[in-house]
Amino acid sequence: MKPYVGVLALQGGVSEHINMLNSIDCKTVEVRRPEHLNDINALVIPGGESTALIKLLIRWDLVTPIQNLSGTGLPIWGTCAGSILLSHEISEKEHIVNQPSLDLAPVRAERNSFGRQLASFQEDLIIKGLKEPFPGIFIRAPLLHPLSESTEILCSVQEGVVFLRCGNIWLSSFHPELTDDTRIHKMFIEKAILGS
Ligand code: GLN
Repeated sequence: MKPYVGVLALQGGVSEHINMLNSIDCKTVEVRRPEHLNDINALVIPGGESTALIKLLIRWDLVTPIQNLSGTGLPIWGTCAGSILLSHEISEKEHIVNQPSLDLAPVRAERNSFGRQLASFQEDLIIKGLKEPFPGIFIRAPLLHPLSESTEILCSVQEGVVFLRCGNIWLSSFHPELTDDTRIHKMFIEKAILGS
């Protein structure tokens, strides 16, 4: 059976993840309401604007159902704003900001961390488990500061960590869905869902 993957579809880069997941033979569902979470094998939380996304998650009663599913071991992967939403703590530089989150990974996400507020850039990344470099696209990306030894760092750049995994929770501060390289989506599906 095809892996059945939910993509949070409240705001941000939804269709890019859906298209990439479909291209690697997953069945997908756009998650807008709690009932869309039924029977999924994994959840992807796209980039966008984390301050808007958390308000929408609260408004549509999605926070507790997602936290409960995580507690059952459901693999969840957040890209960019999605990684901020999954973090325990959010900061701007070192200053902790009072922004609610799903709080599913022992990480401090330092928002808008790379360069100036609007800075976007591409950098070849060396990623654990991939033989060749991966084209990392960063758009006002966070840095990920692990707060626990239990996190597995999958990629760092000069400034700090940009890809990590903590049990069933995966965080990347860059955007694999904006490339035509499916290797990270495949890695998530294979390792997180199929356990290979
Ligand atoms: N800077 C955005 C935030 O703080 C994230 C940007 C993105 O997802 N590309 O939520």
